[in-house]
Amino acid sequence: MSKVILQKKISQRVANGHPWIFSNEIDKIEAEVKPGEIVEVYTFDNKFVGKGYINPKSQITVRLLSRDRNETIDEKFIFNRIQAAWDYRKKIGYTENCRLIFGEADFLPALIIDKFNDYFVIQTLSLGMEVWKSTIVKALQTIFNPKGIYERNDVPVRELEGLEQKKGWLTESSDTNILINENGLQFYVDIENGQKTGYFLDQQDNRRAIRHIAKGADVLGVFTYTGTFEIHAAHYGAKSVLGLDISENAVLQATKNAELNGLANVCRFEAVNAFDVLKQWGKDGRQYDVVMLDPPAFTKSRENIDKAVTGYKEINLRGMKLVRPGGFLVTSSCTNLVSPELFLDTINMAAKDARRKLRQVTFRAQASDHPIIWGIENTNYLKFLIVQVL
Ligand code: SAH
Repeated sequence: MSKVILQKKISQRVANGHPWIFSNEIDKIEAEVKPGEIVEVYTFDNKFVGKGYINPKSQITVRLLSRDRNETIDEKFIFNRIQAAWDYRKKIGYTENCRLIFGEADFLPALIIDKFNDYFVIQTLSLGMEVWKSTIVKALQTIFNPKGIYERNDVPVRELEGLEQKKGWLTESSDTNILINENGLQFYVDIENGQKTGYFLDQQDNRRAIRHIAKGADVLGVFTYTGTFEIHAAHYGAKSVLGLDISENAVLQATKNAELNGLANVCRFEAVNAFDVLKQWGKDGRQYDVVMLDPPAFTKSRENIDKAVTGYKEINLRGMKLVRPGGFLVTSSCTNLVSPELFLDTINMAAKDARRKLRQVTFRAQASDHPIIWGIENTNYLKFLIVQVL
């Protein structure tokens, strides 16, 4: 097995358990390596660090899979990691739908697997993980005997690894519009053309958090996608629910989902640009008991954090102004580039501008099937806040 020797000033990050090794942290690679092969990593003074897969083309040259010198990286290893991730999900209460593998947090870097009922959607986001794709499919078949496994590798990050973008069935093809249950409701998931893997499982625990405040309320849900939060609000007894999304297709899906749950009489959806209409409705003096915001990331790079913060501040300011005094703002941010502290500061700035006082109801992260590993910052990415707006 080829050896990779780290520089003397190896970052504390790797020593503390982070699995990524960047190209500029490597002193030398002993022998020719084949992209995707398993290598052993050592410190400058020859102490074993771990084993992982290498891709000399990628800025993240090595991603560590194991810190155990005696562990062999083979089919059995992959199977055991997937089985362990499933055992963990079951232990904390997930049965039907969950993020089964959350990359680094399940010690399988660059692998994402979402379980939707009997269907699985997978993403292999690095070359080193792509190599194991058929092994992963085999493991899923052994553990779950699934109805289908679909690949959503139509993601630009794959190109940084020298991989093509693609999507399609890895098992016999079938309908890509599947039905899932969540919190006693049903939702269609379009695993072929939906966003990311088709559905945002990361908010599944948070959707229950609106239960009490939704009761009897006039609710505005912004960035609705397939209407999940909005349909929950209706289910929990909202008087009226309006959901907004810029995508016509999302609004169609949301409407279908509301009908599916017999809540079409309470929920209405509109395809509009939220930034424009919220501004206008603020001027018009519209008021809601609950305003929910679940915007997209606004940035994907560290250089643009300021732009993201401006976006979050703007939308929260506009949203907050539409909350009746004593009503509630439910607000999220899904990028790890904005830390929880920075997110709260941003909401606080918006409140100051809106001249409103906030009382915090709850502040949390993503659902527990997306574990946060301490020391691996990018596993802590979702912020979910409910505040009363006084
Ligand atoms: N709340 C959803 C996820 C929202 S994802 C859920 O729980 O499933 C973010 C959504 O914001 C996407 O559907 C996207 O189409 C929408 N979006 C992006 N920019 C927008 C804008 N300017 N106005 C309205 N919607 C927008």
